[in-house]
Amino acid sequence: MIKIKDIIQYLDTYAPPAYQEGYDNSGLLTGNKEDILSGVIVTLDCTEAVVNEAIQKKCNMIIAHHPIIFQGLKKLTGNNYIERTIIKAIKNNIAIFAIHTNLDNIAMGVNKKIADKLELINTIVLRPKNDTLTKLTTFIPVADTDQVLSKLHEAGAGMIGNYKNCSFKIEGSGTFLPTGDANPAVGEKGKLENVLENRVELIFPSYLKNKIVTVLFSAHPYEEVAYYLHDLANKNNEVGSGMVGYLRNSMNPTEMLDFIKIKLGAKVIRHTSLVKKKIKKVALCGGSGSFLLKDAIACEADIYITGDFKYHEFFDSEDHIIIADIGHYESEQFTKELIYEKLREKFANIALHFTEVNTNPIFYA
Ligand SMILES: [Zn+2]
Ligand SMILES: [Zn+2]
Repeated sequence: MIKIKDIIQYLDTYAPPAYQEGYDNSGLLTGNKEDILSGVIVTLDCTEAVVNEAIQKKCNMIIAHHPIIFQGLKKLTGNNYIERTIIKAIKNNIAIFAIHTNLDNIAMGVNKKIADKLELINTIVLRPKNDTLTKLTTFIPVADTDQVLSKLHEAGAGMIGNYKNCSFKIEGSGTFLPTGDANPAVGEKGKLENVLENRVELIFPSYLKNKIVTVLFSAHPYEEVAYYLHDLANKNNEVGSGMVGYLRNSMNPTEMLDFIKIKLGAKVIRHTSLVKKKIKKVALCGGSGSFLLKDAIACEADIYITGDFKYHEFFDSEDHIIIADIGHYESEQFTKELIYEKLREKFANIALHFTEVNTNPIFYA
């Protein structure tokens, strides 16, 4: 029996909630995570029509990219679509789960999916986040080092890009004098001890801090474990906004616009002057991406594909780059596939549906 919390736990490991933006409201918005899962509807937006669909398809979980509750709700009287959606979901025991900016911000998330649709190669995060990495330094008796290290690696420490089990160690001697009620694993009370130890250093995502320290304490043979945690200012290339990559073969700007229309299902592209002769380097961001224009220019991309550009913001391209606004929904519509595929990797047998509702509120005349 799969519970709603099993789905949440799995998605939280893939797109850690710690990576959502401060203004966001990702996570479980309605429902009981202890309920047995009957089925999942995957959608970009959770609307009343999607809740109706869940009822009809007997699915008690909706996974949406955009959180239907974004700001605080002070009343629940059904006066607007948000309140009506929530009330209907609660009345029908439907869990609404949002996986929003945490999914935007992971390197294998929303933007990677768009990059894949455009067949881009050598993709990297456009604006990596700082302040998301921590370094652990600890001192382990030489004989116990491998055992403790393997536990730390298992807990998620020592991953750098495509490399796992990364660590550094150097041998030296540690000293200690057990006093009071000490019950030392090595040596005896009242006697100065000199032990051959490894100084071990490894890096891990800051949100795992409690877990890593707990694992260190339980795996380390000493009663008192000496360790330091240092929060790092390093950029984390696994987490951040937007993405940049290359087309396998460059194309001219009009070919590129047609290519985008086909590959990303965009009916209309609002773009700036076609100032580049050839398009090779492509920056992109699903959703509202005007905040990344400077980064796209700085990395010398030829085109920046996103949604929600405002009139005055188009001027900021200053002929350095072509802005191509394909629409918020259009840029993020493949997020449904992303979530669906991720869930299928782990849960082969659950009832899993794409919504049949077109939740895009924008039509083109
Ligand atoms: Zn998004
Ligand atoms: Zn969005």
